Amino acid sequence: MNNPSYPVIIIGCGPAAAGASMFLSKAGVRHLILEKDSFPRDKICGDGCSGKTALVLRKANPAYLDEIFADGERFLPSFGVVFAAPNGKAIDIPFGTDKIVEGRPPGFTVKREIFDHFLFSKLQGPHTTIIQRATVTGIDTSSGGYTVTYKDNSSPDGALQSVQCSLLIGADGDKGISRKKLLQQDVLSKSSFVGLRAYYDGVTGMHPQNFIELHFLKDALPGYFWIFPLPNGQANIGIGMDSELVRKKKINLRELMLKAISENPNIRHRFTHARITDKIYGWGLPMGVEKTRVSGDHFLMTGDAASLIDPFTGEGIGNALYSGMLAAEAAAKALEHNRFDAAFLQEHYGDVLFRRIGDELKLSYTMQRLVRYPWLFDFVVNKAHKSPALQQTISSMFADLDMRALLRKPSFYWKILTNQ
Ligand SMILES: Cc1cc2nc3c(=O)[nH]c(=O)nc-3n(C[C@H](O)[C@H](O)[C@H](O)COP(=O)(O)OP(=O)(O)OC[C@H]3O[C@@H](n4cnc5c(N)ncnc54)[C@H](O)[C@@H]3O)c2cc1C
Repeated sequence: MNNPSYPVIIIGCGPAAAGASMFLSKAGVRHLILEKDSFPRDKICGDGCSGKTALVLRKANPAYLDEIFADGERFLPSFGVVFAAPNGKAIDIPFGTDKIVEGRPPGFTVKREIFDHFLFSKLQGPHTTIIQRATVTGIDTSSGGYTVTYKDNSSPDGALQSVQCSLLIGADGDKGISRKKLLQQDVLSKSSFVGLRAYYDGVTGMHPQNFIELHFLKDALPGYFWIFPLPNGQANIGIGMDSELVRKKKINLRELMLKAISENPNIRHRFTHARITDKIYGWGLPMGVEKTRVSGDHFLMTGDAASLIDPFTGEGIGNALYSGMLAAEAAAKALEHNRFDAAFLQEHYGDVLFRRIGDELKLSYTMQRLVRYPWLFDFVVNKAHKSPALQQTISSMFADLDMRALLRKPSFYWKILTNQ
């Protein structure tokens, strides 16, 4: 008997897959999603969603954002970020006003267990078939595309099933099968970070507008310790660091995080009455630091499977959704022209993706390298503390790439030094 066949198969059902599925449905493209877990399911994350997440959701359906911001029990609107330098001095950076569209908050926090389930609930429709508890175990080239084999964990014997497609979208994260099989990447690149996440109740001293907080501790550079407020007095607490450094210096990240909570003079008082409510979990963050291959004959890679996390802020949800959206647009073109070759997909996906987000990733990588120097970071934040104009400049850097490019210029630091 022939295997069932779909024009497009997506592996995984996180934000990258959700972005792809929403826009494939809009284009009327029939597709199958294979997800190894079943919803609701957790994902280790900081739970911070930025303007890019809002942008893709707005494009998919503006009503999604109305739903999010009407649900204060589960989603917490956020209006900016607090940067604390290694010396403990902090500056508040409101998200640019250009990020506030139709009066809605520019960002929000939400537990991923809730957010990913929310996304999942928006994918049902006539063009979408979703099989949960389906772990993809094999990806093999076949005439006209791929044969995808998955283990059906719903069946008592975990039977293997096979399906065919013309185009495969890898959206199964950094440890998924698609980056190994399609990109032949068994190990993560040197630009990976590793992060820990814990949920706490009762952390005090949050910003009145729910700013997310990045504390650049000297021992964690170029990574940071974070405090992200969540609804109902909860908080997502975590730490992220360069995996290579962690390995080389044999750093115990868990100890480093707990030490910051119990001993850091700028942090510990906020945890006096706090209580951890879950275990501490860890996961990798594949950072996007250069233009890499994200497509090939009959396949497109999205989100963490394509290493698209912002190397400075650690945000990956927005780029996952965004790359999913672009992958869907490329898939619709590929089907229209019946072209699934590497050159066509590179032109209509890889090139488009890096034209849109390549500069942003490059500049974020510059910022990541700059914060490896604590004295430089302390210096900029000290000055910004005293200068509203400099604070405004730094605030604009989040929205404006040309402003961010200033960081690469020695004249920027000279002007700060000479109070110009
Ligand atoms: C500690 C930490 C903190 C972070 N904080 C933030 C933050 O605050 N804000 C932010 O924007 N980003 C953050 N990120 C990054 C963010 O979590 C990821 O970039 C984002 O989840 C990527 O989405 P994705 O859809 O590509 O992959 P994922 O969310 O990983 O989804 C992949 C899906 O594929 C499924 N899957 C895997 N293998 C298979 C298989 N073989 N068969 C079938 N299905 C499979 C998985 O079950 C999963 O559902 C953080 C990451 C970490 C580790």
